[in-house]
Amino acid sequence: MTYLAVPIQGQTKAQFKDRLKAAKEAGAEILELRTDYLTDLSSAVVVELIHSARRTGLPVIVTCRDAKQGGAGNWDLKQRTEVLLEAVRAGAEFIDCEADNFAGDVQNAIQEVMSANSRCRLILSAHNFQGPFEDIAVLYESIITVCPQAIPKLVYAANHICDCFPAFDLLHNKDRDAIVFCMGSAGMISRVLAKKFDSFLTFASLDDRQTTAPGQLTIRQAKDIYRWDKIDEQTEILGVIGDPVAHSISPWVFNACFEKDGINAVHLPFHVQQDKMGFNSFMKGVVERLWLNMGGFSVTLPHKTNALDFASRGGDFVEPLASTIGAVNTLKIGFNGIVSAYNTDYAGAMDALTSTMGIERHQLHGVKVACIGAGGAARAVVAGLMDAGAEVTIYNRTLPKAQLLAEEFRCRVYGLQELSSLDAAIVINCTSIGMSPNVDASPVPAEVFKAGMTAFDTVYSPLKTRFLQQAEAAGAAIVTGAEMFIRQAMAQYRIFFGKEPDEPTMRKTVSDRLGQV
Ligand code: NAP
Repeated sequence: MTYLAVPIQGQTKAQFKDRLKAAKEAGAEILELRTDYLTDLSSAVVVELIHSARRTGLPVIVTCRDAKQGGAGNWDLKQRTEVLLEAVRAGAEFIDCEADNFAGDVQNAIQEVMSANSRCRLILSAHNFQGPFEDIAVLYESIITVCPQAIPKLVYAANHICDCFPAFDLLHNKDRDAIVFCMGSAGMISRVLAKKFDSFLTFASLDDRQTTAPGQLTIRQAKDIYRWDKIDEQTEILGVIGDPVAHSISPWVFNACFEKDGINAVHLPFHVQQDKMGFNSFMKGVVERLWLNMGGFSVTLPHKTNALDFASRGGDFVEPLASTIGAVNTLKIGFNGIVSAYNTDYAGAMDALTSTMGIERHQLHGVKVACIGAGGAARAVVAGLMDAGAEVTIYNRTLPKAQLLAEEFRCRVYGLQELSSLDAAIVINCTSIGMSPNVDASPVPAEVFKAGMTAFDTVYSPLKTRFLQQAEAAGAAIVTGAEMFIRQAMAQYRIFFGKEPDEPTMRKTVSDRLGQV
């Protein structure tokens, strides 16, 4: 059982009391009273708050965090210890003391009061806001050596997604109740997966303004996006790898389909920072730990060529189409750790374009198309158009990169400055220009668009990019990135699960996030 603990903080008793009720209603399973946030901290106030909290019927943790470990006030050790002792006497189910402070008089006093109040359990915590602990397993051992009955709580900042692995390893190997997860955006997945790996609890805040640590989710995010209530130790993990990745709607879409299909899986955003080395270390960490039960990933920018290189070098299966395109957007991990690589952008882009235009692929034969960009998405689009016999011209900021692509697929190439004089029936944006939050940007001047043309933006957030708005205003037909997204995600679902996803659920989720598609 992993509890969803909600930290309650406030400067006044009244604020605490309002938030206790709200947390219970939102689905909290344990309440943590962060008494260090009070401006008028006293044992009497803490006792009153414990009584209020206990009226919710939920277990209560009382914490008075040391400022050195992220505490809000500047309370001295004596005051903080007094709060904990009083909390035990008042019937709190848990108290949380920093392991560093649990020594000498503090240790004696806590052990004495707890021996007279056996229903209260001690959490001994350690936090590192800078990065991973030097050796988390040694720290765990040192805490349980000092106090074998305690619940060790080890929380640290993940500076890279790979920093989550030591936390998962410890949860996998632990021999008692323990609380282990990572902070920061790269650590977010560990807060959700705490439930799969049986951390004693994880924290989620009441709302965005009530977070008490970096990367903390809200209760609503945990429950509504990441399927908190459905996760158990059998849950299969899938996700989207990217940098940035927070904007991705893949977790919403896949999780909604899992819910609809009754599949025991969760889809998470994996923030794998920029470089190829980081990507390779992450994938190596995943395939070395098959017990993680990670089943596959959608891959987005900037890792599509890294994904291809990883799968090709590992001697794993790479779909020939993905090799031809030179980019992979789907990785499936077999039960034996074998990684298979696919590209669903190709079919997604071609189906979105032809279905919106109301034509068959072969009708693109001889049609002039301007393709802006030379990254992973552009590779899939150019490959699809060339297969259909279109006359493609590539425009890109970095000319040598575009020249390589043009040589491979035998098309013309120009720099972005030539876009103002383009001559094409279809214009496709395959760059990230115009993607949220830079919604006012467009890769082309508005004068480029004419009635009768078709404009296709692979960017899907926002739904109607500046590029598409300009095109529509000029009377051109438009194809949205959302249409491509839905079609490539449906193909990924088939690869992951060998079955059709529920298309209406996918479309509704995309519409709910982006607007009517
Ligand atoms: P990528 O491999 O990193 O390529 C990015 C491309 O954008 C490169 O051509 C890059 O030019 C160009 N670019 C980026 N910032 C630029 C700027 N400020 N000025 C000029 N050019 C810039 O990324 P990708 O995987 O191809 O993804 C590109 C876009 O397609 C993203 O917005 C992504 O969301 C979208 N996409 C959508 C779907 C869908 O299903 N709708 C699927 C795949 C991708 P340089 O070569 O000069 O760096």
